[in-house]
Amino acid sequence: MIHDVVIIGGGPAGLAAAIYAGRAKLKGFVLEKMSPGGQVLVTDMVENYPGFMEPISGFELVEKFTAHAKRFGMPIETGEVERIEPVGDQFSLILTDERTITARSVIVATGATHRKLGVKGEQELTGRGVSYCATCDGPFFRDQVVAVVGGGDSAVQEAIFLTKFAKKVYVIHRRDELRAIKILQERAFANDKIDFVWDSIVEEIEGKDQVQAVKILNKKSGKQSRLEVDGVFIFIGIQPITDFVKGLVDTDERGFIKTDQWMRTSFKGIYAAGDCRQKPLLQIVTAVAEGATAAYAVEHDLA
Ligand SMILES: Cc1cc2nc3c(=O)[nH]c(=O)nc-3n(C[C@H](O)[C@H](O)[C@H](O)COP(=O)(O)OP(=O)(O)OC[C@H]3O[C@@H](n4cnc5c(N)ncnc54)[C@H](O)[C@@H]3O)c2cc1C
Repeated sequence: MIHDVVIIGGGPAGLAAAIYAGRAKLKGFVLEKMSPGGQVLVTDMVENYPGFMEPISGFELVEKFTAHAKRFGMPIETGEVERIEPVGDQFSLILTDERTITARSVIVATGATHRKLGVKGEQELTGRGVSYCATCDGPFFRDQVVAVVGGGDSAVQEAIFLTKFAKKVYVIHRRDELRAIKILQERAFANDKIDFVWDSIVEEIEGKDQVQAVKILNKKSGKQSRLEVDGVFIFIGIQPITDFVKGLVDTDERGFIKTDQWMRTSFKGIYAAGDCRQKPLLQIVTAVAEGATAAYAVEHDLA
């Protein structure tokens, strides 16, 4: 069977594309390697998505997106795309379980994943105190001391969230001011449980079976120090999940897919939307807008 469109990724971009593709009566489905929702599933509260004046939990928002996509007849299937092979004017999607799916167009909405620090101890202690998800692991640190590495929106938002559980949260940031938006900064500065370690980078995470401390270098003074912590949460940015289309579509040097304003990539028939795409603002509201645009472009181009 040849599908009009297969949407790879069931995060906000993919689910919004599904709503628009479903309403346009395109034949196809969403392929998601895990549970639908993407990064929103690991977000505690969302307070900047239009229409939800009261903060809504990431989980609840995902439930609404998923139900909405299904309402217009777009199934969400489980599967991980390993590669895309162009065959004439169609595409073969090869899945990791060796299934092959044929489609006339493909929307890549595979989002992004956390960047790693790349220091000693990080990999060995992941799941043993090193985490990239405060919503998932925060409750394990009740009355303990944790460090958050980073200074952007996600780092500050998650540091505030962690104060619900931890007795002390150190935010270790390589600059002397935060990158996070002002409202988050104000909340963090007003929170007694949060202390800031400025101008500093983590050089090593120490611990045998569990995290015990982080070694810190102050970049301004050159002074090294050791901070005893039970957990380390790392939020230093994200990297796009686009390896599987490398060489097929144009990307920037960091791997983000380049598109035009219709979300068309450099390869005819392949579209990209959401965090995997090169753009200035990586948020739910932009991801859904691009998913909608990509589905509209597919409808237009197929017609
Ligand atoms: C901690 C945190 C807090 C955040 N807080 C906010 C906030 O308050 N407000 C806001 O607007 N934004 C927030 N964001 C950002 C927001 O979550 C993202 O911008 C948004 O989720 C991007 O949507 P997306 O659909 O492009 O990608 P994602 O949400 O990353 O979804 C991509 C999906 O594709 C799937 N996938 C990947 N590769 C494959 C493959 N090969 N085959 C099949 N499926 C695949 C993944 O499993 C995933 O489900 C936050 C992010 C984080 C990490």
